[in-house]
Amino acid sequence: MTDIFDTLESEVRSYSRSWPAVFTRAEGARQWAEDGGEYVDFFAGAGALNYGHNNPAVMEPLIRYLQSGAVLHSLDMKTPAKREFLETFRDLILRPRHLDYRVMFPGPTGTNTVEAALKLARKVTGRQHILSFTNAFHGMTLGSLSVTGNSMKRQGAGIPLTNSSKIPYDDYLDGETPDLLWLERVLEDSGSGVDRPAAIIVETVQGEGGVRAARADWLRGLSELCRRHGILLIVDDVQAGCGRTGSFFSFEESGIVPDIVCLSKSISGSGLPMALTLFRPELDVWAPGEHNGTFRGNAPAFVTATAALRTYWADASFQNLLGGTVAQLQRWMQSIVAEVDGASIRGRGLLAGICFENPGTAERVAAESFASGLLVETSGPRNEVLKLMPPLTISTRDLDAGFEILAAAVRAQTR
Ligand code: PMP
Repeated sequence: MTDIFDTLESEVRSYSRSWPAVFTRAEGARQWAEDGGEYVDFFAGAGALNYGHNNPAVMEPLIRYLQSGAVLHSLDMKTPAKREFLETFRDLILRPRHLDYRVMFPGPTGTNTVEAALKLARKVTGRQHILSFTNAFHGMTLGSLSVTGNSMKRQGAGIPLTNSSKIPYDDYLDGETPDLLWLERVLEDSGSGVDRPAAIIVETVQGEGGVRAARADWLRGLSELCRRHGILLIVDDVQAGCGRTGSFFSFEESGIVPDIVCLSKSISGSGLPMALTLFRPELDVWAPGEHNGTFRGNAPAFVTATAALRTYWADASFQNLLGGTVAQLQRWMQSIVAEVDGASIRGRGLLAGICFENPGTAERVAAESFASGLLVETSGPRNEVLKLMPPLTISTRDLDAGFEILAAAVRAQTR
């Protein structure tokens, strides 16, 4: 049956093709559709709803704020909402981790923070080139797309995407030794034709690229290489950040301190658009107005972001709880892959995946899961991975319910 979504909305729509329901209501890790369908959510708004749908901890302060008559602009003017967010972010996130970053609001979305990071790195170093990784995903505007390693997405640009090169990512996923030596040689060899880059941008876990986690020692090697060659290290934590991998920043476990960090998706805590770019104070070189935009300081998003930080990051209890959820997820994933030849587990924390050898399996499992009441997406260059990304706050009951649907769908599609 065709409807307004098919006749008026552009053909470029994508998620509505995977999940052709009209969603009306959501709570925690559950979503409901107009036709009465109920779904367990293993997608969390592409990682924008780490604290679940309509979480009262963020919604109640938001409703109070909206009813208070506060100024609802989104510019970078001073407001109490922005002050409280900045103070909370400093006190609960930066100080306990001994991180000395300046905070910038680059615009509302993930691609905005990546654009800001690339632009700042070029301005600071005076160099044009950026290195990124094969299968990386950093966004869909021209700068962030130029460092994205997915050729299908890149073709959407219609023009050559220049000033960036891709470093193979596959080698360090499963390999025993971190092979950064060749990169070191290329950078040292003035005849290699590779200009010294302004920055290297990396996801510590490639989300869209197939839930591929970089090892901590490899990240440390990359960070040292950047330091030796005067290259800025940008960590794109848009998807892997805000607790997704088990700690607030995905790079904490490795001990590295990136020069620039990109955050978005779940930083608002509510699904409202918000993004941050963090950088070392020495990199704060832009003159006032040299980088700005209308939707830089969305006041309602500051309110929910502050509430989320205060609720979940004031002490270690949420992180401890996450440990238990991750253990439950791991048990389920192991029991599923044990039954399927060539299937393997990917990822870190609650940015997890199951990779299937046979082409098409993950997509068929995702479709069957949807039909049985579970939202789960695929990722990877051949859509070979089921990406399991429930809200971090999912209950044991809902996690079990989702995995029961998933396990049945896998069985049906692999026998
Ligand atoms: N970086 C990463 C790692 C992402 O996963 C995404 C979105 N999937 C982006 C950047 C772009 O974010 P947005 O879609 O909000 O522009």
